[in-house]
Amino acid sequence: MNSENNLPLSGETEQDSSRSQVRSLRELIDRVSGREFRSAQTDGESGIADLTPFPFLALVGQMEMKLALALALINPVIGGVLLIGPRGTGKTTAVRSLIDLLPQIPRSLCYYGCMPEDVEGGGIDAICPDCARKFGQGEPLATLDKVRLVELPLNARLEDVIGGLDERAALHERLRLKRGLLSQADKNLLYVDEVNLLADEIVDAILDAAAQGSYTVRRGPISSTYRSRFVLIGSMNPEEGRLRPQILDRFGLRVVARGLSDRDERLEAYKRVQAYLSNPRSTVKQYSAETNQMAQEIQSARDLLPQVDLPNEVAQMGLELIEQLKIDSLRAEITLFEAGRAHAAADGREKVTYEDLRQVAPMALRLRSSAFMVEYLNQQAVEDEKIYAILDNKLRAQSTPGEFVDDSAKSL
Ligand SMILES: [Zn+2]
Repeated sequence: MNSENNLPLSGETEQDSSRSQVRSLRELIDRVSGREFRSAQTDGESGIADLTPFPFLALVGQMEMKLALALALINPVIGGVLLIGPRGTGKTTAVRSLIDLLPQIPRSLCYYGCMPEDVEGGGIDAICPDCARKFGQGEPLATLDKVRLVELPLNARLEDVIGGLDERAALHERLRLKRGLLSQADKNLLYVDEVNLLADEIVDAILDAAAQGSYTVRRGPISSTYRSRFVLIGSMNPEEGRLRPQILDRFGLRVVARGLSDRDERLEAYKRVQAYLSNPRSTVKQYSAETNQMAQEIQSARDLLPQVDLPNEVAQMGLELIEQLKIDSLRAEITLFEAGRAHAAADGREKVTYEDLRQVAPMALRLRSSAFMVEYLNQQAVEDEKIYAILDNKLRAQSTPGEFVDDSAKSL
């Protein structure tokens, strides 16, 4: 198959394809910033993963959703992504399609997830006996592996999420804790679909782990602490229930996914989904060169990120924006600035510009200013005035004999 022929369907004009498709991270950045297209370089390198999710680059439209997910892969400090929208807008498809774009990180070879840095942090007792032996003999405990997508099922129990007693080990009369999903999500993406419908205890466990980067499980005489530094990706349909403000605050970027409004785009999306359903491997193969390129671009942007600098005058502009929007949460500037840095890195630059902030500001700052909090604080101000008014009245009364005088007023 020739690399130009990357569309699953015939009869599409060049103009059609340029409207609905991006072929690389570079094009995505160029598209959302309204820049001229540069044609993607394809190196002919292709490989098909065992899993065949719908290709990220075959998703029609939804530019903001794609950009937010790409930025979250480039810079985990952004704080993840929340996708909000009705059913059938490609939210879950987009998240699962990230599998082929994920970068590489060191990964434990052990069932219990022991890592070399466990030994640095907590000594040889911090790893399991098998790994302690391996460590002693200089054998590797970890290998390079792709970041994974860990999905939290809606029916997960708290024990599945944080871990619990290992029944396998209990059979051999050893008490040992089994890792939960949150520890498996360490250094990975944690995807929570229908995040607004999760049980409170599970949401709290996720929030605690996300806040601290680790969590502790206690069962009887034993306890264990697990690292849990993950990029949280959530999706929700607001028609099915609201999200607690505490959880909403935890998400960095917020994308409102709407249905495609363009008739041609809708038709194109339909055709691509049909082509994929009839032959997933063939569709994946058609996009594999571009997918590989985008994965490399994301890795390069991650490598560049530590060098990307936020100039003070650009930061001041961002702070002014947040001030004018009356946003209280300090996560607003973390997300805005870190997303700006990721955007600059994706564009191959080492300095964040006003334009970078402009591109990411809506998704970083929307749904953060709370009408409730503004009203609440205004009410407090009114109440405070009332309190001062009464006190002041009382003080004035003190100096006016015959009116409103008591002992406590005298002692003031
Ligand atoms: Zn181990």
